[in-house]
Amino acid sequence: MTKQIENKMDKVIALCKRRGFIFPGSDIYGGLANTWDYAQYGSQLKKNIKDYWWKYFITDREDMVGMDSAILMNPKVWEASGHVGGFSDPLMDCKNCQERVRGDQIIENALGIEAAVGKSLKQIGEIIKENNLKCPKCGKCDFTEAREFNMMFKTHQGVVEETASAIYLRPETAQGIFVNFKNILQSGRNKLPFGVGQIGKSFRNEITPGNFIFRTREFEQAEIEYFVKPGTKAEILKTYEEWKKAYWDWYVGLGVDEKKLRFRDHDPDELSHYSTMTADIEYEFPFGWGELMGIAYRGDFDLVQHEKVSGKDLKYTDPETNEKYLPHTIEPALGIDRTLLVVLLAAYDEDEVNGETRVVMRFNPEMAPVKVAVFPLMKKPELQKVAKTILADIKKDFTAEYDESGAIGKRYRRQDEIGTPYCITVDYESLEDKSVTVRNRDTLEQERIKIDELNKYLKEKLDK
Ligand code: ATP
Repeated sequence: MTKQIENKMDKVIALCKRRGFIFPGSDIYGGLANTWDYAQYGSQLKKNIKDYWWKYFITDREDMVGMDSAILMNPKVWEASGHVGGFSDPLMDCKNCQERVRGDQIIENALGIEAAVGKSLKQIGEIIKENNLKCPKCGKCDFTEAREFNMMFKTHQGVVEETASAIYLRPETAQGIFVNFKNILQSGRNKLPFGVGQIGKSFRNEITPGNFIFRTREFEQAEIEYFVKPGTKAEILKTYEEWKKAYWDWYVGLGVDEKKLRFRDHDPDELSHYSTMTADIEYEFPFGWGELMGIAYRGDFDLVQHEKVSGKDLKYTDPETNEKYLPHTIEPALGIDRTLLVVLLAAYDEDEVNGETRVVMRFNPEMAPVKVAVFPLMKKPELQKVAKTILADIKKDFTAEYDESGAIGKRYRRQDEIGTPYCITVDYESLEDKSVTVRNRDTLEQERIKIDELNKYLKEKLDK
């Protein structure tokens, strides 16, 4: 089960298309580079991940609330947050083949992340020249000078483009939380420490998207702003470490192997303009270690900025001391799509059944898009009728589907490839003994279960 699987990324991408998890975007028009559409099973898997996040971090906790803010926001938000002035990457063009590259990534890939962080545009150009670093497309080292490229998508709001005001697609969901901080406080009577979380789409005009859904220009984030009383370093550190641990445990709960996870603390040079402490959780992807999420201590940077630019008082009044102050925040920010890629990679497995290679997605039952499949052994009305009745009953509690096409072995393979934990077969004996065969995806064991006990059986196996 843990054997090395070659070309795992390619195999997962092929499976996603073959089995209806993820399709290339705008496929019938030849696609649109680096866009992906979540299909019947992919969208359900994504929903399961989001539901798991929402329950774990919002509804199961007493110190958290959820929200869902607008994608389009007043452009002043992005001035205040620093995104208009500072949310950019060093863009360079290869003079030979015109490929657009990120200077810092060229350095990072060749010399390691430390060689690229905190470098000025000029230094980036120099490092590339000195080390003769090559264009990933044509292999020449002949680039234009590095220049700042703002990653926010800009569009217009209004009917006539010339007079309409410029507006941005949000590059992160976090600012929607900060601008609603006071409203949430006043309507919810929350006491510090408390947090606000939301899941939603973000957009970044990435220079080099790629690696399937790892880096795209449109993606989903789940972000939390956890507001705390400004305290000593030790107090902040304690909460920060609690969040690091909470997220580590969350990933393990998703079915991710701990050996493939690691924390990486940011060097002081690497920290964003707002952060004084940041750690990433990284995963060992088939293409190397990559960031899954970041946990940043932002101090009071955002609330200070929004007070300044909006002119509104955003201070919190301490109910015990009547003291007024701006809380500090700890921000865990994760990408849903990257997490979904990890769930797919962690689940993908191959084993041998009856001398043939079987591809099986070993999702945690909670993540599996389909929990149960129901088959009549043959396309005979008396078997179909029983199978359909069982299906309708199961569907009240779990996602389930019906399949009557092809040999039973083929139907099992199909369900294994979408990771369905249990398959139920209705055969002629079922009509006599009122029992069905339940087959377990992982152990391949088959059990006879009474139809009236199916519900209880599945609840025991599937409900966590
Ligand atoms: P990276 O260094 O990979 O560009 P980042 O440090 O800019 O990421 P954050 O701004 O911290 O990312 O965003 C939080 C999370 O959002 C990331 O850890 C990642 O999971 C996700 N994310 C960011 N950019 C993208 C993207 N272009 N495509 C998919 N997910 C993304």
